[in-house]
Amino acid sequence: MDYTGKISRQVAGIPRSGIRDFFELVQGRDDVISLGVGEPDFATPWHIREAAIYSLEKGHTSYTSNLGLLSLRKEISRYVGDFFHVDYDPSSEVLITVGVSEAIDLALRALIDPGDEVIYHSPCYVSYLPSISLAYGVGVDVATTKKDDFALKADMLEAAITPKSRVLMLNFPTNPTGAVMPADELEKIAALCIKHDLIVITDEIYSELRYDDGEHLSIAALPGMWERTVLLHGFSKAYSMTGFRLGYACAPAPLIEAMMKIHQYAMLCAPITSQAAALEALKNGDAAMNEMRESYHHRRDFIVKRLNEMGIDCHAPGGAFYVFPDISQTGLSSKDFATQLLEAENVAAVPGDAFGEAGEGFLRCCYATSFDELKVAMNKMERFVGTL
Ligand code: PLP
Repeated sequence: MDYTGKISRQVAGIPRSGIRDFFELVQGRDDVISLGVGEPDFATPWHIREAAIYSLEKGHTSYTSNLGLLSLRKEISRYVGDFFHVDYDPSSEVLITVGVSEAIDLALRALIDPGDEVIYHSPCYVSYLPSISLAYGVGVDVATTKKDDFALKADMLEAAITPKSRVLMLNFPTNPTGAVMPADELEKIAALCIKHDLIVITDEIYSELRYDDGEHLSIAALPGMWERTVLLHGFSKAYSMTGFRLGYACAPAPLIEAMMKIHQYAMLCAPITSQAAALEALKNGDAAMNEMRESYHHRRDFIVKRLNEMGIDCHAPGGAFYVFPDISQTGLSSKDFATQLLEAENVAAVPGDAFGEAGEGFLRCCYATSFDELKVAMNKMERFVGTL
């Protein structure tokens, strides 16, 4: 059957992810060291896995409330209050979702009408622009640059605002650059959001993975921002729980209610076993999380040092588990560098342009891989760079 014309134009118009294209090249090769996948290399801490097992053992296999287990929402409200210094009522201002992925989709679909503009900073997580398009919005990207350590500049944001702008999406620390926002610039951005009546979707998935200066500041905590912010967070990265598929949204009740309307029909609720595991993560997971963060910190310092030693300019990003070295001085494009590195040395890293045009000339290396593998990968990359 010819399926042309059978698939929604909106879906057909979405390009394939550049990451997917690249990983098709990786598949079928043996012994590849991958710095490609943005996923912790730790198994979920045992006490969290145990909580999932006990939940199943007790026969907790039902649906939960559409919003999610109240016990978990209460714990999320406590955690978000302590960590981000923002208060949400667990009965009406917290929605448990299937990962931050679902929460991004719900927030966009709940907030925008066809043709509304959604501003995001790039290079950015690969799902943002497709999610905006699938919600019939128009994505407007504001490029961040190496010169500013990939932080979003308020003047650049202001230049992108039009009468059609409705939403600003933020993600700090950022996938793929690891960038964090200086507090004074974030304050200027908050002032612009208030001035231009924008709602902010802030994807806080890497917030715990901060190095150096430590304390994380969410835009939701700035004066006047609570009422216009949808705070998204989840368990995938900080607790190494990607396969549990659990996240949440916190926002004023009318916004959560709007997101709930979609969630209840599309998803009904997040899986109960994962919710039981997440409850344990929030109650007793700090020690394991801190240990994993220490380990990432150590690896970040190592990979930044090695890249600079081999003549690849790489700043030390303040968060997440990615470095975004500048490979432009090699004269190769991002794609050519990544492809030739894979072919010559069996090391996979993602071409920066997979995260938007502003990523051209860079490479995303995820250092959430074992220290031994990182060492070998850096030696191989050094040998490859030496041949250019
Ligand atoms: N947001 C960002 C910035 C990410 O990097 C990712 C995953 O890599 C996600 C959201 C998806 O997270 P989840 O596993 O909670 O769906």
